[in-house]
Formats: sequence, C-alpha cells, structure tokens
Amino acid sequence: MVRERSILQERVKTKKIFVGDVAIGGDAPISVQSMTFSKTADIGATKTQIDRLALAGCDIVRVAVSDHEDANALKELKRLSPLPLVADIHFRYKLALIAAQSVDCIRINPGNIGSKEKIKAVADACAERGIPIRIGVNGGSLEEMFEQKYGATPKGMVESALYNIKLLEDFGFTNIKVSLKASDVERTVLAYRELRPLVEYPFHLGVTEAGTLFHSMIKSSMALGGLLLEGIGDTMRVSITGELEQEVEVARAILKYSGRQKEGVYLISCPTCGRIEADLVSAVKRVEERVKHIKAPLQISVMGCAVNALGEAKHADIAIAFGHGDGLIIKKGEILCKLPEEELVDRLVEEAEKLEREYLEDSFKN
Ligand code: SF4
Repeated sequence: MVRERSILQERVKTKKIFVGDVAIGGDAPISVQSMTFSKTADIGATKTQIDRLALAGCDIVRVAVSDHEDANALKELKRLSPLPLVADIHFRYKLALIAAQSVDCIRINPGNIGSKEKIKAVADACAERGIPIRIGVNGGSLEEMFEQKYGATPKGMVESALYNIKLLEDFGFTNIKVSLKASDVERTVLAYRELRPLVEYPFHLGVTEAGTLFHSMIKSSMALGGLLLEGIGDTMRVSITGELEQEVEVARAILKYSGRQKEGVYLISCPTCGRIEADLVSAVKRVEERVKHIKAPLQISVMGCAVNALGEAKHADIAIAFGHGDGLIIKKGEILCKLPEEELVDRLVEEAEKLEREYLEDSFKN
C-alpha cells in the first residue's frame, strides 16, 4: 500500500507579537506586507498608496523614513491609515524616536543605530508604547564586522541577526520579529533555515530586490514557498519592481499554493492542445478577473475539453468543460447543464458566487 505523505510541515511555533491589531507568529494567520514608494512626507500620495494596498488585501504597510520631514508626517499618516504602519529607518536613531511615538512597529538594525545608549533609547521608546521592532538583516548591507568575517553569506546574515537580537535583549526588549533577506533564493532559504531553531521570534520572509514581476514571482515562489512548506514564516513581503497590488496578489497566491491560506479561488486550467475548439485563453482570463473578489476557498477548473475535465471536475467546486461551440458546467462533480460557449463564463461566475454565499452563511452559523 502506498502511504500518502504531505510535504506541508507543521508550522514552527513562534512567539506571538502584534503590529497594530495584526497578530504575527504563534497560531496567527501568515500576514502580507508591502511598502509604499512615495516620499513619506507627501501625506496625500502616501495615503493613496496605502489605500491601494488595503484594497488589494494587504495586512500591514511599511513606509521609508529618511529625514525629519518623513518622521514628522507619521502621526498624521497613522491617523489616516487603514493598515498598521511600520516605519523603516536606517542609522538615524532620532528618527526612530520620533517614529516610535506614532507607528505600530519600527524596522531598524540596532547595529546600525550607533552607541548602546542610542539603541537603549529606541528600545525604551518602543517598549513604552508596546510596539515591536523588526530586525531587518539584509545580505547586501551587513555590518562591517560580519561582512569581513563571513562575507555576504547566510552565516554572516545569521550572525548579524543574533548580534542585533542580543543588543535588544540586553535591554530587556523582546518584542521582536526578524527578517533575513538576500537577493537570491539559496542564501535567503539557508539563512532563515539556519536561524529558525536558534530563536523563538516570528520571521518576516522576503527575497530582497527580487526584480520585475516575472523574476520576483519565480524567486519568491521558490524561496518563500519552500520555507512556508517547511513551516517557516509568520509574515511576508514579495518585493516587486512594479505595481503595489502585484506584491499583494503574488504573496497571497504563494500562501494559497503552499497550503498556508485556505481563502480565495484556487484556479485550474489546462494548457490547451490540438483537441481544443474554443478560445480557452481568453475565457480563463475572464474567469480569473471575475472571481478575484471571492474570499471563499473554492476550486475552479476551466478545461478545454471533456477528456480531463470530468476527472478534474470531481475535485473542483465548479468547472467548465468546453466542447464544440458549447460546453458543460460541472458542479461538485455533477454535470449541472450544457450551455452555448458564450454563456459558460457568466454561469460559472454566477455559480461560484452562489457557492461563496453558501460558504459565508455556513461560517456565520458555525
Ligand atoms: Fe487538451 Fe482537453 Fe487536456 Fe485541454 S483538457 S489539454 S484541450 S485534452
């Protein structure tokens, strides 16, 4: 008898912290983060970008704080932001002190902040408001001492993280999450894997400077998807040189396809072949666009013919099998109806929305 084994490992139990009202670590759902690219002091432009991210399904937003103008804009941004706000600060501890007065988390590398007194001042300011610090190690900008000893290696990244964690712990500060980002898959995976058994803090996953949509999707799926399958990761950002919404969409897809997020549509479509007699490519695109809003965990299949469709449809909640100028709508493994080709997508979406309503009603009852 062949025994089925899952490659999805149990999630590593980490300490639970909060960024605003979003829990990170422990048994909390894995959250999705992104970052605005406007000058933070431009409150109007930054608020517009935060709203776009919120609409796309982002959980937490980070803004860059480069000078006093940015730091002083945080109070108003925090008031306006529908999402918990993280301030990203390098080197200038006074900016961290201002930021800590209003945001929900700050991202620094304590090792870059300067003297122990300065690090203590930042830790105390965060402790006073009960906000966490993300120690954001980046393979491309390790502290000199680690760079010289280890180079930009996973070992160097892990040693830097441990050093920075200790700096905060020495002041009694343990409201911490950690990221270990490199710009390639291998170093990213090795660094997170190596640090995971050594600390209990939640991990923020990411591949840094991952490139344009195509390249980032592949690198992030491999690195973040692989780590998620191993049970590593509590929150994540997919970095893309592109549109803000793409970062959230790709992150959600990685969570879904790695089995860490049940909500949303799991779409299956065939690659087409010589048997096809319909324009499947445009049909799938229309389905994809029109079921984006669905939050219920639904499997939807769009298949070019009945050869594989009936088998696939057994696992799908709702499916189309195209035929010759017409096609079948298959619901939960049963043929529901046969319709002209041009009516199939509308009916599939209608049935998917019906299934979502039933799911929501059931969830409400339970
Ligand atoms: Fe070809 Fe039909 Fe398979 Fe699509 S489902 S690849 S059209 S055999």
